[in-house]
Amino acid sequence: MPRTAPAVLGPSGQKKWLSAKHEADPPPQAPPPTPAQRCTPTPHVAGMQHPPRYNPPMAKFDYDLFTIGAGSGGVRASRMSAGYGARVAVAEERYLGGTCVNVGCIPKKLLVYASHYRHDFEDAASFGWDAEVRGFDWGALIEGKNKEISRLNEIYRGLLGKAGVDLIEERAHIEDPHTVSVGGRRVTAERILVATGGWPKVPDFPGVEHVITSNEAFTLKELPQRVVIVGGGYIAVEFAGIFHGMGAEVSQLYRGPLFLRGFDDDVRQVLAEEMQEQGIDLRFDTNLTRVERRGDTRVATTTAGDVIEADQILYATGRAPKIEGLGLEAAGVELASNGSVVVDDFSQSSVPSIYAIGDVTDRMALTPVAIHEGMCLASTLFNDDPRKPDYRDVASAVFSQPTIGSVGLTEAQARERHGEVDVYKTRFRHLKNTLTPRKERVFMKLLVDPKSDRVLGCHMVGPEAGEIVQGLAIALRCNATKAQFDATIGIHPTAAEEFVTMREKVS
Ligand SMILES: Cc1cc2nc3c(=O)[nH]c(=O)nc-3n(C[C@H](O)[C@H](O)[C@H](O)COP(=O)(O)OP(=O)(O)OC[C@H]3O[C@@H](n4cnc5c(N)ncnc54)[C@H](O)[C@@H]3O)c2cc1C
Repeated sequence: MPRTAPAVLGPSGQKKWLSAKHEADPPPQAPPPTPAQRCTPTPHVAGMQHPPRYNPPMAKFDYDLFTIGAGSGGVRASRMSAGYGARVAVAEERYLGGTCVNVGCIPKKLLVYASHYRHDFEDAASFGWDAEVRGFDWGALIEGKNKEISRLNEIYRGLLGKAGVDLIEERAHIEDPHTVSVGGRRVTAERILVATGGWPKVPDFPGVEHVITSNEAFTLKELPQRVVIVGGGYIAVEFAGIFHGMGAEVSQLYRGPLFLRGFDDDVRQVLAEEMQEQGIDLRFDTNLTRVERRGDTRVATTTAGDVIEADQILYATGRAPKIEGLGLEAAGVELASNGSVVVDDFSQSSVPSIYAIGDVTDRMALTPVAIHEGMCLASTLFNDDPRKPDYRDVASAVFSQPTIGSVGLTEAQARERHGEVDVYKTRFRHLKNTLTPRKERVFMKLLVDPKSDRVLGCHMVGPEAGEIVQGLAIALRCNATKAQFDATIGIHPTAAEEFVTMREKVS
């Protein structure tokens, strides 16, 4: 795996082999819908506007597609497949909209907004405001967040209903390649889609029962005043910023020498400096050996022998594919050593009638990617238009404080793939901070292939980095050159204009 000659089942149900054309060069992707917020579903789904193209064979199964998991990927795949004329059911055991809507992107970003007010209130005085902040009401924030999530859950329910997808709010498991057991019933389907996402993974150690994960962090009854965060991924970094912004004392521990492995090294370093400057206690090459509970206090011992007292200890040490009890192995589905479903370029598993998309496949664990994989799959199965997900230049943000925005290659990747690389960097004080005592500085970096002049990577640490880099991602998808960046007239005064005015190579 992945197999080289992927087979898909054609509309007639017979297996057909994809042509070389499809394998060598994926057809251009239809423009996806343009939601302002990718986790918020839009009523428009490409394909649903057109008359259904899928002509189901004589109904041999209860459904043409049975999706397990109504998260980002599962909902989109189900809705689009139904839009193409397929008979679709989706099972959801917990919450409509999955991780992103309920315990991921959306509530996380709302908490980031809430915590960022601390910086804004601090800066307000430098702009002449004489404002008094009397406190912060965690309960009110969580209540507002819960209300918004309930609204989104209902939107998802409505969208599935409108698309004609049967929603079964039960846990499902696979009995055989065409049978799913759900809510005490056995349901048959020509194809089964596994879109069950991931789940936080916490290592075993003495006192593990006293720690929480990101799942619980969203529903804490009280705002902890002292928080230890263990982990070096983006979720750990984001929660460090969230709790610090809300006034908690935060220590973040990571077992490696520097957090955010996989991001550009300068970006990682700059963010660490900025977080330390704000007063977050970062401890690298450090882990916890044990946690004890004394009353409401958690007492953590580190590998360095230090003892830290905290009100909450949040483990953000990775996520594992959610496959427990799903019946995948019994059905003959090949799994990787980390439990993820092994799929080919068309999201087909080793069992031809079983497909998988999203976090359970451990390809690129991001909501827009799961959605993209879902759209490609629906098109492949029910629109007679096979599409491979395209992972080139997927932009991403870390909603740390300050934010990271990134698209394309890191410097290390660029050097590995292209040898020589031109590097442009700048670090400057944001105009807003010229009036405030804040020492935070914006960092930007461009990586350019000297042979073709193509921009290979854009990286930023600073306010609105995600918003800025999203625009640059379009340029990278169009193979923009440094000369074209330079020829672009900037918007003044913005931080973003620096991306088109960087002239001096640093190496
Ligand atoms: C704290 C946090 C912050 C994040 N922030 C971002 C971000 O800012 N940007 C971004 O792009 N991504 C972010 N992500 C990642 C993003 O949430 C995931 O990549 C995305 O949700 C994956 O979608 P999915 O469809 O694969 O699975 P999910 O959205 O997880 O959906 C899977 C669904 O399947 C259901 N399910 C599982 N097993 C069964 C079963 N046996 N029967 C029935 N139902 C079942 C689950 O209940 C769940 O609803 C974040 C994740 C976390 C945890």
